[in-house]
Amino acid sequence: MNNALAYLWPLMDAPRPIVAAHIVAAWPAGVHQRLLELGFLVQAADADRVLCPECQGHIEEVIASDGPGGTPRFYVACPEVSRAHVPAATRRQWAVNAPRFAEALAATLKLTGVCTELAPNRAWRLGCTTWQDATRDVVLARGLHWGDAATVRAVIVRARKPIVFVPDAKPSDDLWRGRVPPILALSQVATDCEKGIDVDPLEIAAAIQDAGERVSDSGTIAIGMDQLKSLIRQQVKAEGKTGLIDDILVAAYRQHGTVREAAAYLSRETGQEVSKDQVHRALQRSGGVAVVLNNHDSPSVVRSRPSARGRKTKKPTTSI
Ligand SMILES: [Zn+2]
Repeated sequence: MNNALAYLWPLMDAPRPIVAAHIVAAWPAGVHQRLLELGFLVQAADADRVLCPECQGHIEEVIASDGPGGTPRFYVACPEVSRAHVPAATRRQWAVNAPRFAEALAATLKLTGVCTELAPNRAWRLGCTTWQDATRDVVLARGLHWGDAATVRAVIVRARKPIVFVPDAKPSDDLWRGRVPPILALSQVATDCEKGIDVDPLEIAAAIQDAGERVSDSGTIAIGMDQLKSLIRQQVKAEGKTGLIDDILVAAYRQHGTVREAAAYLSRETGQEVSKDQVHRALQRSGGVAVVLNNHDSPSVVRSRPSARGRKTKKPTTSI
């Protein structure tokens, strides 16, 4: 049996997740039917452009003309036969039903909480899990390697210590400002099984553990006072007046111990008004004061850049 999901990942990674009849026809037997059964592919509106059914050598716009009894007939211009008739089946195409997939993945992972869409057809909070005593949101995202990925990043970083699934292509670490969340490619951990999606918990555990060791080149969470200042400067330069990321607000709180002093410090350093409320809200989003302080020494938070280089995947010692 082919792993039907292997044909889904490239579609989910495409900005226009639609597959044409002539592509589906080249898939191994059973794959298309299986993806339809699972509800991950659904029939979309007929294509306006198709592969020429006569010579299969070019893609052309479909032209409609009146046929017998007023029913339209469709054809494409073809250099070989002038007009190539386009049967209805040739125009069929199918779209990925990403919300349906997100629901199924959430069920497979046995997460708690409700699966909710965070960004239209781009990101979903699948639910949450407990990982090394911390509650973490599990997120599915599409297109973190596309040009507009910053908009999706913005909703992901608001999640609680997110663990992020992507179909296949992973974004570069530069996408993140500060801690790089664990990014798991479904193509490496998920396969088709009788019940739907099968995931390998050991692969997931290994990926999360490995990702916990890394920080992006644009910042570090192993915050000394000097590093925090440098991070603030980078952030202010990069984002203008759009505000500080939670990691910085939380790091300032850790340095100063009170919301008021953290806000005063950040206002001085940025030359902008940073309110106590902003610091407070960042703390809440990061799990509250107790969680923030308790995680101070956790391996996923306190790491410096030099030690993050060249690390190898460790064998997992726990499972999700
Ligand atoms: Zn042709």
